[in-house]
Amino acid sequence: MAQKSSLVWFRRDLRTHDHTALSAALDESERVHCVFIFDKAILDALTDRADRRVEFIWESVRELDAQLRDDGGGLIVRHALAETEIPALAKTLGVQTVYANHDYEPGAIARDETVRTALEQIGVAFKTYKDQVVFEKAEVMTLSGTPFSVFTPYKNAWLKKVTENDLFSRRYLPKKAQFAPQVLAIPSIESMGFARTNLALLKVPTGMSGGKALFDDFLKRIDHYDEARNFPSVKGPSYLSVHLRFGTVSIRALANAALTRWRAIDSDGAATWLSELIWRDFYFQILHHHPRVVNRSFKPEYDAITWVNNPAHFEAWCQGKTGYPIVDAGMRQLNETGYMHNRLRMVVASFLTKDLQIDWRWGEQYFAQKLIDYDMSANTGGWQWAASTGCDAQPYFRIFNPTAQSEKFDAKGTFIRRYVPEIAALSDKDIHAPWLSASLVPHGRGVQYPAPIVDHAVARVATLEMFKAARAATP
Ligand code: FAD
Repeated sequence: MAQKSSLVWFRRDLRTHDHTALSAALDESERVHCVFIFDKAILDALTDRADRRVEFIWESVRELDAQLRDDGGGLIVRHALAETEIPALAKTLGVQTVYANHDYEPGAIARDETVRTALEQIGVAFKTYKDQVVFEKAEVMTLSGTPFSVFTPYKNAWLKKVTENDLFSRRYLPKKAQFAPQVLAIPSIESMGFARTNLALLKVPTGMSGGKALFDDFLKRIDHYDEARNFPSVKGPSYLSVHLRFGTVSIRALANAALTRWRAIDSDGAATWLSELIWRDFYFQILHHHPRVVNRSFKPEYDAITWVNNPAHFEAWCQGKTGYPIVDAGMRQLNETGYMHNRLRMVVASFLTKDLQIDWRWGEQYFAQKLIDYDMSANTGGWQWAASTGCDAQPYFRIFNPTAQSEKFDAKGTFIRRYVPEIAALSDKDIHAPWLSASLVPHGRGVQYPAPIVDHAVARVATLEMFKAARAATP
């Protein structure tokens, strides 16, 4: 029998379509209230008071609210501490159940447990659902029932397991007058202590409509994804990561489209893209089974590495002033836009850990601060992959040569010229080589490009020794 009223708590799932918790609430309740909390526990910890994520969320919340208003309801939006505000609101509204979707980050799990306990104390149920991944927790396991730590067998098992049911999109069909109307306005970005960013200038499309526009555009290119995705100056990837992060798109709809396209025309592009979505699930389940990867090496022997951690080198890396053009271009893309192309994430992460011998956690934290699509599972996964400390990571002796990466993936220097304009005049051939670009750029005459802060060949040898020492130190 339907309960009288419920509250749907939106978090990183800012959409109405194919929303598991919302669908369940609409199925099971006569009246549905919806809430989003700008959580002080998260916002107060942000050091940059102009944060593109806050603005992306704010714009997406506005669109979600407008959609709910069109359907007779609206979103209650508060700037508060979620763990106290949700139970308080549930009590004031007199709901029987609070609905939400699972979150897999340790901090969010702890918050949800606090909320569950507080709700229990006032006799309110807390129902949570899988929504942001296709398979979660222990749904894809090895034949012996242990978690996978290598991607390819995980992917094969994922593909074997997936059925239409797993990728089925729930329809969004609220009944007339089922939503509780809302009248209060959304708190402004400024009232929460934040300033606007360059998000609008960058034309980052926000909300459900933004996610849909990007996906529609990508579907025209998906068949070429496997060839185009590695070149940062080419519009190859989908740019959907921020939408996956905040749930303005449905992972099931995306995976379904990719799988259907792959099967229909044997599209290598669609197959490769689906594989990336499976990497996403893979890192979520790694975080679930091994929450220590947040700040410890997946391979414990590498916690014994003695990193060099030179603060001046770290600062140069953060600012995109290492003297390695491809590294600097990637870091400047991150600083200026909040996004970085996947190839460059690998290049700059390898450079930080293997050329500068700086602890991967420093880089992971910098990405966490700057990336608009920052996701703890993919970020710790990506960093530990590049640093060779992670599951299924690069072996420690495979060290990217930044110049060779640059020549291969930005052959004409198009991407470098966009983000490192001070060396734009160099020839297509010269623009990649750090020592050369430093010597060719006329220093002191208005153009400042730093000489390389390290010599890759020398750093490479020292890094191999650093890893060998850590391995030898581990019994
Ligand atoms: P597409 O190429 O269009 O891929 C589609 C989607 O697949 C992505 O949006 C993402 O959700 C998923 N995906 C792709 N590659 C990976 C991967 N290697 N691991 C997990 N999921 C993947 N991705 C994040 O979403 N958040 C992060 O914080 C993040 N940090 C990273 C840090 C490092 C050091 C590295 C090497 C990779 C990181 N990635 C991260 C993975 C990847 O770089 C981005 O997902 C991708 O560049 C986003 O662009 P896109 O949406 O255009 O990707």
